[in-house]
Amino acid sequence: MIRLDGDLPGLVISAPSCGHCRQEVSMEDGIAYCEGCGVYWGTIEEDETSQFDEDRDFVEVCGEPAPESNSYKYKGCAVTVAYYPCILPEGHSSRHLHPYDYESVPLWPSSEVSA
Ligand SMILES: [Zn+2]
Ligand SMILES: [Zn+2]
Repeated sequence: MIRLDGDLPGLVISAPSCGHCRQEVSMEDGIAYCEGCGVYWGTIEEDETSQFDEDRDFVEVCGEPAPESNSYKYKGCAVTVAYYPCILPEGHSSRHLHPYDYESVPLWPSSEVSA
């Protein structure tokens, strides 16, 4: 016999997570906080940008030196990716966050062009 008054699965909305380390964030009073990165979001909305924790008097930037820049060829272009030192607060336990510049220059005149 089939019961029709049972509960079918409820919908679970996944918890917000940090865009950098992908860890679930802790939430309190409409503020989200990432323990790993040491940053918080004042508004819990998609794509909201995090900020340094203001409760601490002064937070230094981690500043982990940038990895070596990367150069390679991709689809007929010379690509250079230049990295910068880590911008997360000092003492974060997540992996470092290095901003980078991406430059793509067409390889022209191409050595493959013949008369
Ligand atoms: Zn994080
Ligand atoms: Zn760092």
